[in-house]
Amino acid sequence: MNCRQFQLRMSEFLDGDLTGKPCAECRDHIRKCAECQRILESCRDTIAWFRRDAAGTGPLPAALHDKVMRTIQSRGNSSRLASRP
Ligand SMILES: [Zn+2]
Repeated sequence: MNCRQFQLRMSEFLDGDLTGKPCAECRDHIRKCAECQRILESCRDTIAWFRRDAAGTGPLPAALHDKVMRTIQSRGNSSRLASRP
């Protein structure tokens, strides 16, 4: 599993929807990849904060989801730039 594959599955992973092989692959990737670890933790914090703060009001608001996705995308772009010679 690479970073992109992990990030695509991250919301399922955080929700606990992922089981079996994909779940094991995600755990394995996080162990090896500090960048994805950071992204996962910041998403988990955001979601945990929101759930604690607004329990019972429903799913994550679109604006917050959007912000998280933009964070992931901008990190992806910057790491692609950084890997240029
Ligand atoms: Zn990664």
